[in-house]
Amino acid sequence: MDTKAFPQPARMALEKFPHVFNDQTLYAGPLGAAWAPGRINIIGEHTDYNDGFVLPAAVDRVAAFAGRMRHDQTIRLWSHHFEAYAQFSLEGLPETFAAQRTDLPGWARYILGVISELRRDGIELHGFDAVVGGDVPLGSGMSSSASLEVSTAEACSFFSNGKFTIGIEGATLTPMQVAAVCQRAEHAASGLRSGILDQAASCIGRPGKAALLDCRSYEYRYIPFDTPGISIMVIDTNVRRELASSAYNERRQQCEEATLLLRDLIAPHDPESAQQITALRDISPAQFTQYKEYLPEILRKRAGYVIAEDERVFQVVAALEQGDIEAVGPILWRGHEGLRDEYQVSCMELDTLVDIAHSVNGVLGARMLGGGFGGCTINLVHNEAIEALSQAVEKYYPERTGRQATIDICRAAGGPGQSVA
Ligand code: ADP
Ligand code: MG
Repeated sequence: MDTKAFPQPARMALEKFPHVFNDQTLYAGPLGAAWAPGRINIIGEHTDYNDGFVLPAAVDRVAAFAGRMRHDQTIRLWSHHFEAYAQFSLEGLPETFAAQRTDLPGWARYILGVISELRRDGIELHGFDAVVGGDVPLGSGMSSSASLEVSTAEACSFFSNGKFTIGIEGATLTPMQVAAVCQRAEHAASGLRSGILDQAASCIGRPGKAALLDCRSYEYRYIPFDTPGISIMVIDTNVRRELASSAYNERRQQCEEATLLLRDLIAPHDPESAQQITALRDISPAQFTQYKEYLPEILRKRAGYVIAEDERVFQVVAALEQGDIEAVGPILWRGHEGLRDEYQVSCMELDTLVDIAHSVNGVLGARMLGGGFGGCTINLVHNEAIEALSQAVEKYYPERTGRQATIDICRAAGGPGQSVA
């Protein structure tokens, strides 16, 4: 078996498969693998569910399936990570709530969720047996759940013998349609009303590029993010807080409330523009300045952050298009301040990591990444400063928080893939 073309977790899963599933008579297709990446987000945090803009990049870490299509409707899975089996049938799908399948382990509910949503879209699927692996760190902020969901869709395509294809033209589903299916699966499996960012970033990743995505129209274009001399360091606080998902849903609701209030404030003066307002994305910075004093303080902070963050996305895009990566740094620091002080989704550990990064020469910028209340920070760092930042984190983070951080370096990488072994 020549497995050089496969990402490492796919290779590992391919090697594992014959040891876990070995009844050859079950299979109707060849052994192969499918995978999809995790992501970082350079800027544009909590803007996706406000119909705004994000600037993510897929990373060189993936979730991967390796297996074979079956003759029947059964799906059997073995998770390399959890060292556990899960099994369900395609019969009776779609199901409304993957979360209600408490007989299945959490990781399998994401997979069931995607398969269920594909069926809801009328896509015909086959049973399969697969080993599920991956090297996106779980729960750290690189969106392993999206990598698992998108790789599930890619695996379903692989195990369909060409009947279900994913592509830009003439395929069963476009990459952004797959992202939407996976977003619905995430809602069903986790109860988190998350935006489209994570799944889209995984679906449309390209090596050396970030993607500027309009989360309303789902249009996107690629922005150069191949930055020799600069590294992307992802530093995990190793904090996970239960609070995260309820606070996330609460922020979403506050944004919706702020939108309605602003619309009502604008309507008497400018009825035409007010009619177009359905999300914070529709409020210009000038309009916000004019009406913000009439908002309750909490909503003023939340909306102020989101409206400024959309602006920051375009500032970063302009800097990257001019090849001026240095100019991106200060925008990241400001993004973090907004998340900490106005959106209030940071935590002591995230602030500490950003603070430490600020004190190291050669760090261009850093901010918390993802939903918040734990998870990781993204740091843009001159290669010569990697060592200094690592040492500073290893020394001061435990001193100040009583915890250890995990440091990872990643690159902007390609989207999903599949291949016969
Ligand atoms: P993240 O920020 O990494 O997306 P989440 O809490 O949203 O964190 O998702 C993490 C969960 O996704 C894990 O607990 C697990 O259930 C599932 N998961 C992600 N990747 C894998 C994988 N490769 N194998 C099995 N389960 C995975
Ligand atoms: Mg997730």
